[in-house]
Amino acid sequence: MKIRVLGIASGLPELGLHHSAFYVETKDRNILIDAGEGISQQILKFKLDKNVIDEIYISHLHPDHFSGIFMLIQMLYLQKRTKDLYVYLPEEVEKVKEMFNTMYIFQEKLSYKIFFLKMRKNDNIIPIENTHLKTYRKFTAKVNHKNPLISFSYIINEDKKKIIFTSDIASTEHLTNHISQTGIIFIDAFHPKSKEIIRLSDSFEGDIFLTHSLSEELKLELIQNKRKNIFNANEKDEIIF
Ligand SMILES: [Zn+2]
Ligand SMILES: [Zn+2]
Repeated sequence: MKIRVLGIASGLPELGLHHSAFYVETKDRNILIDAGEGISQQILKFKLDKNVIDEIYISHLHPDHFSGIFMLIQMLYLQKRTKDLYVYLPEEVEKVKEMFNTMYIFQEKLSYKIFFLKMRKNDNIIPIENTHLKTYRKFTAKVNHKNPLISFSYIINEDKKKIIFTSDIASTEHLTNHISQTGIIFIDAFHPKSKEIIRLSDSFEGDIFLTHSLSEELKLELIQNKRKNIFNANEKDEIIF
């Protein structure tokens, strides 16, 4: 597997960084996990061909994970992509399709076929639902918004190799049953308690790459308590695993 880190910024934009996006080449297909703002620029920078991405997996609909998809779909059209593109969404498939129509990006007009699908297990790509958006539960109930509040982390398996991308998470609890034999975890370093990330690094053999800007708490923790298997992810990283 080859992983290209394309975006690590969190919800607060930072100069010189792009929002969440990871490009992963597996044996049988190439996928994009998240399509945060700046993804099109990064695709141009790293010279990824218009037909190279087979599938896009969106972890959740926060703009730092999703808003780049509109320009991406338009760019691929203007570049005259021809290959079918599958976009897996955590929720609100029909509303998302409508958002594209509202922006005059009509599926029927594209140079390629695009399929918006509800998230599901897809051979070696396994979504694990997490609780990141559940923190809105009280608020959405109070103001009577109907958001489904669904967000995912992902496992990618290939042969005996296993990688986890958490995207945004409220805690690491949902990973407990999945970390055995995992080689790499790309983890949200901003939202979960730093102690949970440290505990995770102690409880598994592989490496942890921190994305999404470190919380102040985690920065301090790592100064006092360096760990051999915790690294900062960088946008230029290409990891062969
Ligand atoms: Zn985020
Ligand atoms: Zn989020």
